[in-house]
Amino acid sequence: MHGLAREDNSKEKVLKLKVCPRCKEENDPISDFCKRCGSVLELETALAVDEQRKAYDKSMTRLLWLITNRLMKKDPELKKEIEKDFSKWVDQNKLENLFKDGEQ
Ligand SMILES: [Zn+2]
Repeated sequence: MHGLAREDNSKEKVLKLKVCPRCKEENDPISDFCKRCGSVLELETALAVDEQRKAYDKSMTRLLWLITNRLMKKDPELKKEIEKDFSKWVDQNKLENLFKDGEQ
């Protein structure tokens, strides 16, 4: 293992105003989001937000799947209707490719 240099420059960053990458507005050093346009001010934050959104999406998808699955098991008619509506929606929005690959 190579010795890693300690990074002390994170302290400097904290004291500087954060300039928004989108609208160039100057924001407080402690801000994570631009006060003017709402953009994420740092890559780290952007990545964290992205991860959070992914985790949220995953949870919501799971929850929706659980609910739908329960309902469809109880009611075969409803199952047919949901499947019909869903495939119609997939057709209309040209989302076939989303469901072709990557099935788990
Ligand atoms: Zn901005």
